[in-house]
Amino acid sequence: MDRIQILRDQVVADYEQKTPGSRSLFERAAKALPGGASGNLRYFPPYPLYMSSGDGCRAVDVNGSTYVDSFLCNGPLLLGHRHPAVMAGIARIEEVGSLVVNPEIMIECAEKLQQVIPSAERVRFLNSGTEAVMTALRYARAYTRKTKVVKFYGHYHGQDDQLLVGVGTDRRPLGHGVPESSHDNTLTLPCDDIPAFEELLASRDDIAAVIIDPAMHGSGLWGVSREFLAALRDLTHEAAIVLIFDEVITGFRMGLSGAQGYHSITPDLTTLAKALSGGERLAAVVGSAEVMQVTDPLAPKQVARVFQSGTGNDATFALAAALGAIGEYERLAKASEFEALFARVEGLEVTIRAAFEARGIAIHVNRVCSMMQLFITDVEPKFENFVGVNTELQDLLHLAMINEGVILSLPTSDHMYFSFMHDHEAFGEIAAALDVVLEKYPFAEAFREQVQTR
Ligand code: PMP
Repeated sequence: MDRIQILRDQVVADYEQKTPGSRSLFERAAKALPGGASGNLRYFPPYPLYMSSGDGCRAVDVNGSTYVDSFLCNGPLLLGHRHPAVMAGIARIEEVGSLVVNPEIMIECAEKLQQVIPSAERVRFLNSGTEAVMTALRYARAYTRKTKVVKFYGHYHGQDDQLLVGVGTDRRPLGHGVPESSHDNTLTLPCDDIPAFEELLASRDDIAAVIIDPAMHGSGLWGVSREFLAALRDLTHEAAIVLIFDEVITGFRMGLSGAQGYHSITPDLTTLAKALSGGERLAAVVGSAEVMQVTDPLAPKQVARVFQSGTGNDATFALAAALGAIGEYERLAKASEFEALFARVEGLEVTIRAAFEARGIAIHVNRVCSMMQLFITDVEPKFENFVGVNTELQDLLHLAMINEGVILSLPTSDHMYFSFMHDHEAFGEIAAALDVVLEKYPFAEAFREQVQTR
């Protein structure tokens, strides 16, 4: 019998036994929400897990089962669930209400970003990472009075049609409903390829912006070399092109000053979201005073002005949560806690490799600071080989880990994020659960079948 099928049957049977509450909520939810969830990656077969609460690095499902949570709602909870600093920030604003026009806390939060993010001479707050990216591109186009935008294969920048191409290894848009014309102005290039970028620059003079996720997170967390980021900085500077670091993922995750601080390279514009508010909904475009003039109603007449607005841009709860979170990131940075977290995650990476190797299962692990992604496969580890690779075994691994009390990641997402609340004990629990999973379920046999049938 099919070994992968045997593995799947065992893992799914245990999942169904552990999570009856989620099954009945799914049956109800699917009649109201497509896929029973609020986003494609929140659904996974046979049905998603429905959570009731979270505290620190742990989350509780509707059956009352507790999990070490290393998905953290796709990354924003760098301080874990309900961190006291974030909660105190929100409590501070209770008397103000959720929306008032131009609250003082907005100024306080912008000043804080000026202190901690090198590129943040000016700040505009928004609601989501997608919106921040769209806005940054508009600023860049207005500033340069040019139209083309360069993005790199494998880089995901949110929901905007114009950037939903080249998320894989070719220009096919991610999913249907993205009109051909929406990405007429998007140029796609391989990442970490300086000659390819130089060649493009030599052949055109209509480029407004280059946008890059410094962790190349979306398609497998392959990272980007400092050398490439530095070359982009120099070459865009010379060509008067706006360099945008999309730090929706890397902001605060790669350190208090994000990837730009980590690599000591300052872009013209930066997009922030996710960890910015420690789990509330806040995003920002920050950047040089010169480029950000395009959104300033007081700018001189010759400046090309952008229209930019958003109803929730001064959401007080989100701003207060961000102030609380950033204050805590500052304290943690001073106490060298970022390095300590990265070291704990590196320790887990070593443990994971050893656990799989001991059972003859080939895996590849990508890690950037406190983020990780693993692939159960023996193909040569490079981005081009991994897009479209069969992810069933790693999806089943994540489901099996859930059976043992660990949300390592959500099956079908596969991204892992660790928080400051993941202490040695939590990492010990993850390692112990992994050992149980690899002993209990026939992953080695299924892996051998996967290799034979590839
Ligand atoms: N940019 C990057 C690099 C991202 O990873 C994401 C989301 N994962 C976005 C932008 C979009 O952010 P949001 O989901 O808040 O719209």
